[in-house]
Amino acid sequence: MKIGFAGLGSMGSAMAGNLIRAGHEVTVWNRSPDKCAPLVAAGAKQAKTPADAANGELVMTMVANDAALEEVVFGTGGILAATGKAAHISMSTISVELSERLTQTHGEAGRGYASAPVFGRPPAAEAGKLFIAAAGPADVLALCEPVFAAMGQRVFTLAEKPSAANVVKLGGNFMIMAAIEAMAEAMTLCQKYGVEKASFLEVLTGTIFNAPVYQVYGDILVNERFRPAGFTAPLGLKDMTLVASAASSARVPMPILGIVRDHLLETLAQEGDDIDWSAIAGAVSRNAGL
Ligand code: NAP
Repeated sequence: MKIGFAGLGSMGSAMAGNLIRAGHEVTVWNRSPDKCAPLVAAGAKQAKTPADAANGELVMTMVANDAALEEVVFGTGGILAATGKAAHISMSTISVELSERLTQTHGEAGRGYASAPVFGRPPAAEAGKLFIAAAGPADVLALCEPVFAAMGQRVFTLAEKPSAANVVKLGGNFMIMAAIEAMAEAMTLCQKYGVEKASFLEVLTGTIFNAPVYQVYGDILVNERFRPAGFTAPLGLKDMTLVASAASSARVPMPILGIVRDHLLETLAQEGDDIDWSAIAGAVSRNAGL
């Protein structure tokens, strides 16, 4: 299939690489063009603009945030300016509001649109083991089937309305942050009573908390492996801000959200931008005098 891919960060590079390996004809675009080189070496074509990447059947986007996606779609040389009618599949974690705006704009332009944000960090993207939460018109999602199969281990089809997938992704990321916060608080408590973090984690993941979120992030917390970041604290803050905005619009109080968001702000202020979002564990232990 002829596919455009815009956004070659930690996630996008790995995802586009898997599309090339699966035999698709991939055209890549990235704001900083040098990141295209490894994919071009692997067989991709390089586009000069997102619009140039949108002349096949699908154009996937995996950029940082709402502002980046707005640039890629509505900016000069953006997807809206493409002569072709590739359906746009947005895989970034973006706001419900932008997803609704894209649904309307693409609809008016006669272009298909679906949202397909993902769960899984860069190593899962590399291994083609992402979980994909997809929502959009059935014909667009049918086109995506072989493409999703090359990038993910499972696709959850949620609804015809694309923004359904975005709200599910935001809810999921809030739950990851809440799990990290809860684990960090319990680990800090145990440490103050002389119990090693690793021993605590072994008991919990060996009993009723044997889920990937506790295994993956528990290991990061035990080893304080916060750099290099798999998912940076600024991206985490972006997501918690999007959750807060969706919650305000729908009048949903989310008290735990305020706590994790403040811990992210504290982490960014103390540590800078290049740290993993799970480093909120440092804020928890500092506040306990460790
Ligand atoms: P990343 O490594 O920081 O890459 C960000 C990408 O966005 C880069 O290609 C960057 O281009 C591009 N970008 C930023 N601002 C732009 C702008 N104004 N115009 C055009 N392009 C712009 O981020 P990532 O970790 O790959 O994450 C990408 C998306 O996936 C985010 O929405 C994130 O929330 C989501 N996500 C990430 C993870 C994870 O664990 N990392 C997991 C699930 C979902 P340059 O190269 O030019 O900077």
